[in-house]
Amino acid sequence: MSAAADRPHARAPLEWPGGARCAASFSFDVDGESAALAAAPGTARSLSVMTHQAYGPRVGVGRLLDILDRVGVRSTFFVPGFTAELHPGAVRDIAAAGHEIAHHGYHHVRPAGLDPEQQAEQLDRGSDALERLTGDRPLGYRAPMWDLSWEMPALLAERGFLYDSSLMDDDFPYVLSPGEQGAAEGARTLVEIPIQWALDDWEQYCFLPDVTELGPIQTPAHAVELWRSELDGMREHGGCWVLTNHPFLSGRPGRAAVLERFMADVATMSDVWIAPLGEIARRTVEQAPAPRGLPRIEP
Ligand SMILES: [Zn+2]
Repeated sequence: MSAAADRPHARAPLEWPGGARCAASFSFDVDGESAALAAAPGTARSLSVMTHQAYGPRVGVGRLLDILDRVGVRSTFFVPGFTAELHPGAVRDIAAAGHEIAHHGYHHVRPAGLDPEQQAEQLDRGSDALERLTGDRPLGYRAPMWDLSWEMPALLAERGFLYDSSLMDDDFPYVLSPGEQGAAEGARTLVEIPIQWALDDWEQYCFLPDVTELGPIQTPAHAVELWRSELDGMREHGGCWVLTNHPFLSGRPGRAAVLERFMADVATMSDVWIAPLGEIARRTVEQAPAPRGLPRIEP
């Protein structure tokens, strides 16, 4: 074994179908109105802000479903329970098209800002809302605002969730044991599928007065250049590339057209395995990597 192979970043801890060098997933966070309401409750009085957000489930989701169908890619859509109840047709369309529907909170409130009882209430209420529409309880979770709490992994594992996709400390998925000491014998575990901020359309496109004023709004060409550079790195080093788009942002016509061309390009890459996150999680479990505990930080 070479010295390089001893370094964690030089090893590929997981193998992907067809000998692919990296896994890839085009995921969508269907925030709708809930994201604005959670960030700034006063936006409930703004018809403009509410319609900006409603564009996602009303228009963007359908356009993106058509694109996924044309390109032949299956995806994962994370939907807050509140948004699902407000736009049940969008959720049913996603399910009918054969994509995975996963949990994204109920009110799109950051778990890290809630006590454990409130987190559990948001979790169960969100699962109930999705189950009423699709007939299935979701197996995947992504924290609203990507702000997972220290308690949430245990709450997810206790409820039988298969995976979370909110953390940022690896290139590959891994098995997370929520216990303080790592995996206790027989304890429930959770697959973690890491994300990172460069692979999110929010930072490229989102401008909402009084909610998020990142600006300037980027062109789709700029956004895709960034996402492609991260994918090229994963193709070289191995890993799992997870892109997150929001239908209220990337469902706009010009952005959607560029996303379709990019997606079609990636679909031709023989070294990339594209799959919904649930399939990536199952593939991870099959290979049974040793579980890791939560990191220990004592400020
Ligand atoms: Zn979100």
